[in-house]
Amino acid sequence: MLGDILYKTIDEKREELMRAARKIWENPEQGNHEFIASDTCAELLEKEGFAVERGYGGVPTALRASYGSGNPVIGLLGEFDALPGLSQKDVCYKEPVVEGGWGHGCGHCLMCPSDIGALLGLRDEMKAKNLPGTIVFYACPAEETVGGKGAMASGGAFKELDIALCWHPGKYNRSSYSRLTGSNGHLYKFYGKAAHAACDPHLGRSALDAVELMDIGANYLREHVPPDVRIHYCITNGGSAPNVVPDFAAVKYTFRAMDINTMNDVEERLQNIADGAALMTGTRVDVEKLGGCYPVLNNHVVADVIDECMRAIPMEEWSPEEIAYAKKLNETVPEEWKRCVALSGSAPDTQLHVGVMPIDRDDDFGSSDIGDVSHMCPSCFYKGACFPIGASYHSWQVAAVAGMSIGFKSMINGARMTGLTALRFLTEPELVEKAKEEFKKSMVGRSYEPLMPDKVEYPSRPQ
Ligand SMILES: [Zn+2]
Repeated sequence: MLGDILYKTIDEKREELMRAARKIWENPEQGNHEFIASDTCAELLEKEGFAVERGYGGVPTALRASYGSGNPVIGLLGEFDALPGLSQKDVCYKEPVVEGGWGHGCGHCLMCPSDIGALLGLRDEMKAKNLPGTIVFYACPAEETVGGKGAMASGGAFKELDIALCWHPGKYNRSSYSRLTGSNGHLYKFYGKAAHAACDPHLGRSALDAVELMDIGANYLREHVPPDVRIHYCITNGGSAPNVVPDFAAVKYTFRAMDINTMNDVEERLQNIADGAALMTGTRVDVEKLGGCYPVLNNHVVADVIDECMRAIPMEEWSPEEIAYAKKLNETVPEEWKRCVALSGSAPDTQLHVGVMPIDRDDDFGSSDIGDVSHMCPSCFYKGACFPIGASYHSWQVAAVAGMSIGFKSMINGARMTGLTALRFLTEPELVEKAKEEFKKSMVGRSYEPLMPDKVEYPSRPQ
């Protein structure tokens, strides 16, 4: 049976995978600072005999490890960065480990260990059954901040792939056709002339006026862009005192859309607005690119195979203690809990999702840097039930479950889903071809060039 050896290996490695996830959870690290997480994953793989490429693609905490040879080449993409302000103990009430500290409020501590479980299982099943093909695991830093996958792509990553799989903890077991918006960010810096605001205002040229006029222009732009466009800004510098005409002011913009061509169009129009604001005020504008990620194009062929595999794998069962723990967490978000239960069609007292939801078709206005990879090869970003069903992403409730048995069971389910999906592509080459045909069509009129920031500064490894 396809997957029999995969499941056996994942079960045998379970304790080690859990230890790795717990270690990453106990040491939550900011994007591009994931040194402990990166070492934890590399050491686990090296112990298993893998040659790990550290600092892959020029990104210090990124990793690459592979098994097998030839086609198809299937990528397993994990993340491990944490979030600020979400420090949380593994208890079912809000109690941070460090007040205001970092925490795994998106469950990323589970992603790399889950993929490593899949990789180890695939290695054993491929060896025993003499299956052709290559499995590549990548640890991808900084998903939450600068979008590390774009940085890895500019360093040569992902070009080798035929298929990319990205499992993420979520509320439901659910594959996805959804599109997610891409996101890009710029800092517009205006330079004017300082003067006494009461005595010599005629000598001043206000950089703050330019920022305000730019924001007015951008707000008028909203009416004339497609409905999927999102534009948000904050003024990061508006001068220092009302009696001084500000000679410097800056505004940070993020803009999103479901299509990269729309994003590029909005970028050009915002530039015209910034130039216009500078012209009107006699100031000068410089733009600093902050970087971003592409919209996610989930490949339907890949999503269908994932859906079938989710329904085929043995799933972990939630214990009464785990259900009671999740109930306490859901009680902190009663309205959202009821809404999620209704959406899933589950029994009214459901605390943790059981079963498999129909494939998600709704557009999502969040963003993920898996979008970059989805513009390079057929890709899918899919979720495994892990969160107390009412908890939102980026919350202390998620951080609470990500470091204990609920998160670990989800991680094991994820390893099985990902592993079985990879096995289907290894043994059914026509599925790879079908996915590639769909990918080719989805890329007509689109191309890929990473949205890299002007400045990329990586922290050095702590001594
Ligand atoms: Zn996430």
